[in-house]
Amino acid sequence: MSLADTVKDHFTAEFGEPPAFIVRAPGRVNLIGEHTDYNDGFVMPLAIDRATWIALRPRADNKVDVISIDMDDRREFALDDLPQPADADWIDYVIGVAWSLLERGYELRGWEGVVGGDVPIGSGLSSSAALELATARAFYCASGFDWDAAAMALACQAAENNWLGVNCGIMDQMISAAGVADRALLIDCRSLECATAPLPVGTAVVILDTGTRRGLVDSEYNQRRAQCEAAARHFGIAALRDIDLPTFLKREHELGPLIRKRASHVISENGRTLRAREAMNAGDAALLGQLMIESHVSLRDDFEVSSPALDAIVDCANAEAGCYGARMTGAGFGGCAVALVRANAADAFVERVSAQYQAATGNKPALYVTRASRGAETVAGTGLSTDFATEDTEET
Ligand code: ADP
Ligand code: MG
Repeated sequence: MSLADTVKDHFTAEFGEPPAFIVRAPGRVNLIGEHTDYNDGFVMPLAIDRATWIALRPRADNKVDVISIDMDDRREFALDDLPQPADADWIDYVIGVAWSLLERGYELRGWEGVVGGDVPIGSGLSSSAALELATARAFYCASGFDWDAAAMALACQAAENNWLGVNCGIMDQMISAAGVADRALLIDCRSLECATAPLPVGTAVVILDTGTRRGLVDSEYNQRRAQCEAAARHFGIAALRDIDLPTFLKREHELGPLIRKRASHVISENGRTLRAREAMNAGDAALLGQLMIESHVSLRDDFEVSSPALDAIVDCANAEAGCYGARMTGAGFGGCAVALVRANAADAFVERVSAQYQAATGNKPALYVTRASRGAETVAGTGLSTDFATEDTEET
């Protein structure tokens, strides 16, 4: 059964009639442009074909009453008396988005709904951004304000930063809000301008979950951000986005060895991401793959955010003849890698890399062939299980 049907049937069983709206918002994987978003730089993610769905109907009062299928939980809160966050409980993401929209002056109405999804939780594919954007879309359906993808992404990022206390950049929310089917999105994280980039014909994107997680990610992440800010301060610029590679190479000796390596990654990664766009526009899978391989080396050696498990799965992937290039993706230290492979070799790639990685490390991986999907949207109409009609998706 599709997730649209799952949340719809669950809603009907709980609330006695079918939902008025069904919305979805996807998770994401980043092809290239890692640890650049908080440096005002460039990223190239795609919205994946896994999403968080909400079936809902508006309420006449200001209560929000939500059932989470995945958490097997039901929670209610009032929009004029938001409960403070406790231990990043799942409902805090819903409350945080309400808080952020109210802060920005949106007039919100209550709703009741059912949430369910298939973005793996906590593996770095941004199930949190998917839940945030699906929640924003639910409020949009219930309240009827104008939908602007960038404004919604910023509101959801603020919820994650200021309500949940998670220090993330804008990439995850922006791609979940603005994703385009069959396209990656080059996002300028300063202006939030987006340009679509086609995936080379005959290729497939494979997500490779190492099955490993590491606890220290948050402190390492904050340390990297501080190091990038120190480098920008030294050069007297707002962010590392504002220095080009030739200028940096002339002046890098002014920095200590650690800050130099961190800055070198960010500045070279911005360049690779812009070249990746050219490669994609030219349909050059080999060049795109090469840039991904270089990105991994830079993240491993200069930014130092890879891990033995990530290096192992990337090495297994790159050893396959059908692989153009693979790299770690997301914050690092565990979680997922991403590979660009020949489409007709994708199934064999998944089988062989799974087996070889497991034999090499003892970890159980999960590999998914993914497709670029649309960003947050309202899915409406009949026949939802197979051929659903959509509305409001072109206005962003
Ligand atoms: P990720 O890398 O997947 O974004 P995070 O730790 O940032 O991992 O966010 C995961 C959290 O988001 C979960 O612990 C849960 O609180 C919330 N969440 C994500 N997806 C769902 C869902 N489908 N239902 C309920 N809560 C969810
Ligand atoms: Mg997250």
